[in-house]
This record gives sequence, structure tokens and C-alpha cells, in this order.
Amino acid sequence: MAEKIPQHVHCNMCWKAIPVDEKFCSDECKQRYQAMRKKGRILWYFMLVLIAAFTIMIFVGTK
Ligand SMILES: [Zn+2]
Repeated sequence: MAEKIPQHVHCNMCWKAIPVDEKFCSDECKQRYQAMRKKGRILWYFMLVLIAAFTIMIFVGTK
């Protein structure tokens, strides 16, 4: 039958298998992940502003 795999999770950055109580395999991955998330958040806000501007444009344009 199916073999039991020891409990583990994957590094949030490079997907290496790591112990369950860890989130990253190294400090480098941790830092890279945090930098990526920060960048992603800025991009997300930028997109929201674009969508809002687009919606307003359509709304105003149909009047
Ligand atoms: Zn890693």
C-alpha cells in the first residue's frame, strides 16, 4: 500500500522540502520571499487604481 511520507512542508520560495515547523529553507529564501511580497503588494495596489480609473472612465463615458 501507499508508503507513509514523513511530515514536511515546502520552502515558500524554492519548494524544497523542509521540516514542518519551518517556512523557508534558508534566510536567503526568507528575504527573497519578503522582497517579492512587498513588490507584489505595490503591483496589486497599482492594479486596483487602474481598475478604479477604468471603471470611472466607463461610468462617466456612458453618461
Ligand atoms: Zn528555499
